[in-house]
Amino acid sequence: MLSSVLGDEADKTFEKVAKRFKKKEESAKEKEKAKPKKSGGGYRNFNSQAYWAQRLAMPPPPPPPLPPLPLAPRLPKSQLRCNNCGEFGHFVRECTKSAMK
Ligand SMILES: [Zn+2]
Repeated sequence: MLSSVLGDEADKTFEKVAKRFKKKEESAKEKEKAKPKKSGGGYRNFNSQAYWAQRLAMPPPPPPPLPPLPLAPRLPKSQLRCNNCGEFGHFVRECTKSAMK
């Protein structure tokens, strides 16, 4: 008797899990369908005369000049953390403790 009840329960759990898996699979398939296909259209353009006519007539604009790199803000010494001993207030090069490796 007990085994039959357990078996029933197990069947139900299995059904639940199976349903969940099916849902997951379906949603994954739908996601793939929703994705726009990148290959194809863009590639064909390279062989078209219109593309090259346009390309040769209008050279690509030069890349914009890179903005100057912002200077790294200098932290006050109290906020510096030593990579050697892990203490604040000094840097590795100024560490007075022997190097830990
Ligand atoms: Zn240190």
